[in-house]
Amino acid sequence: MFEKILIANRGEIALRVQRACREMGIKTVAVHSVADKEAKYVKLADESVCIGPAASNLSYLSIPAVISAAEVTDAQAIHPGYGFLSENADFAERVEQSGFTFIGPKAETIRLMGDKVSAKDAMKKAGIPCVPGSDGELSDDPATIVATAKKVGYPVIIKAAGGGGGRGMRVVHTEAALINAVNMTKAEAQSAFGNPVVYMEKYLENPRHIEIQVLSDKFGNAVFLGDRDCSMQRRHQKIIEEAPSPLLATRLRDKIGERCAEACRKIKYHGVGTFEFLYENGEFFFIEMNTRLQVEHTVTEMITGMDLVQQQIRVAAGEKLTIRQKDVQLSGHAIECRINAEDPYTFVPSPGKIDRFHMPGGPGVRIDTHAYGGYVVPPYYDSMICKLITHGATREQAIARMRIALSEMSVQGIKTNIALHSDLMADAAFHLGGTSIHYLEEKLGISSK
Ligand code: ADP
Repeated sequence: MFEKILIANRGEIALRVQRACREMGIKTVAVHSVADKEAKYVKLADESVCIGPAASNLSYLSIPAVISAAEVTDAQAIHPGYGFLSENADFAERVEQSGFTFIGPKAETIRLMGDKVSAKDAMKKAGIPCVPGSDGELSDDPATIVATAKKVGYPVIIKAAGGGGGRGMRVVHTEAALINAVNMTKAEAQSAFGNPVVYMEKYLENPRHIEIQVLSDKFGNAVFLGDRDCSMQRRHQKIIEEAPSPLLATRLRDKIGERCAEACRKIKYHGVGTFEFLYENGEFFFIEMNTRLQVEHTVTEMITGMDLVQQQIRVAAGEKLTIRQKDVQLSGHAIECRINAEDPYTFVPSPGKIDRFHMPGGPGVRIDTHAYGGYVVPPYYDSMICKLITHGATREQAIARMRIALSEMSVQGIKTNIALHSDLMADAAFHLGGTSIHYLEEKLGISSK
């Protein structure tokens, strides 16, 4: 097992990984920008290294800065968290070339899955059902584009092969708007992701977002750890996640889960990963694979009783999986609310000093946060300051516990979206379970359909 791990991230996930390491007796190195130097998790780490100024492209996204920090501290492995360099194949490669272990899959797997066109292709070959659309990259020829859209059927969605974070997508309802939309998405894709390649998919009008968590080792053993429903979204960004997905038959979950585990064996995947699907009328359609730990891994931990970060570290260190599929038992229901420093209804970020920070507690309540009273939320990064997770024997109990936890929670000095979460916990459609990915925007009157 590793003796020292460098955590190449910030915020709650830096703390989450640090806790997993400490429990395993592994020393930790925190890297931080100038803006995060006072953060409590930086002080709690065994060592810390300032890797640059506040701007993330000069610190958390700087490959040489992170690798130098690992060199000067003699860390053996690097955990990338999520976001930042976590799905950067060049980074994974450089980490390994510099003699460290990258806690994640092989660089070539990240590269394959990071390009959504090659990912879909690989998944089709591995027997995973995909959203119908263009056969790979969309042609440059206008007549072919028009013919492809006609075959797929309107509405269609044009998506960037290199896209991520809910960006680089455009819905097209009519042939008249098609070519212009393709050209605009290409131009945006080039400037945002440095890759102008786009592809076309059928735009599903009423789907849910359901994903499968997988875990596999370097010896071809793979299991799936149930599913999660992340349909409560705004601008293609998840706000609430839960496990298991409400109203999904166990038979369907197991069938798609088995296929994902099988796909892991086929592509020689190792580590934790997530297969994301849109689910409509009883059918699953693959949209992408995330080759890293996800924000919402917590709900899976609550219903499986497993520590996914520790599993990730064990796999990276070359250990064999000790669990088999039959050992994976899902118990109860878990929900996660992402608490963001933002206005609950306009979503304008609200960085600044937190004057009062009172967290809830009680049975089945988990809080993953790096914030505290007196903490200053920097304006430079993601606005998520806390993940509030509840677990109950049933979905109703998890919701009831979430409602109570949200009512106990008090964050003052900055705005947060706690009020929005409270509204959603009282929402009739949410209670029934299985709302579509468009539900929240429709409810808020900001439909982007
Ligand atoms: P990203 O990598 O940016 O997260 P994804 O391909 O995972 O992109 O899609 C993110 C979200 O965009 C989905 O959860 C869904 O809300 C929406 N979306 C993507 N593809 C489609 C589609 N074919 N039809 C309808 N919505 C889609």
